[in-house]
Amino acid sequence: MRLVLVGPPGAGKGTQAEVLSQQLGIPHISTGELFRTNVGEQTPIGLKAKQYLDAGELVPDSVTNEMVRERLDADDVKQGFLLDGFPRNVAQAGVLHGILGDLGVKLDAVVEFDVAEDVVVERLLARGRADDTEDVIRRRQQIYREETAPLLDYYRGQVITIDAVGSVEEISERALKALRAS
Ligand code: AMP
Repeated sequence: MRLVLVGPPGAGKGTQAEVLSQQLGIPHISTGELFRTNVGEQTPIGLKAKQYLDAGELVPDSVTNEMVRERLDADDVKQGFLLDGFPRNVAQAGVLHGILGDLGVKLDAVVEFDVAEDVVVERLLARGRADDTEDVIRRRQQIYREETAPLLDYYRGQVITIDAVGSVEEISERALKALRAS
């Protein structure tokens, strides 16, 4: 299965991605994690990305797209993958379309984790990651509304919407059930 997960920061997308990746036996590709690892190791990508992560801004598409292209070229994703945090805007979705076309494969579904903004802001304030200060959280929500949410229209017809309020188990059950039914 080839899946894209979409949802506002704090929707529990990363946690769900872990669970679904285990249950479905496909690698979890988180661009946020890839960036954080690159920042930690001070690689060329990390040096370019750090200021954007710290501010809650999107890393420029040129940097992001190349990182994803390389990751999707690896052998372990030949049987499927779960993309978490990419694409983040419609331009990246176009690039993903091109990458998958080059590989001769297609997405099976886009899973949307649906939860109200005030709920996710509360959750993020409680999480305490380096980029979880209130200003940065609000900026990341704004970017989600303006740049990422339009993906739901771009992928119209392929989107499976999951109510993302509940326990981790409840939400992953909903997602697995919806994926099996699709
Ligand atoms: P996340 O772990 O998905 O919340 O991502 C953390 C940060 O990584 C974001 O706030 C962005 O700075 C950066 N990032 C992750 N994915 C992307 C992407 N697809 N495009 C641009 N920046 C991204």
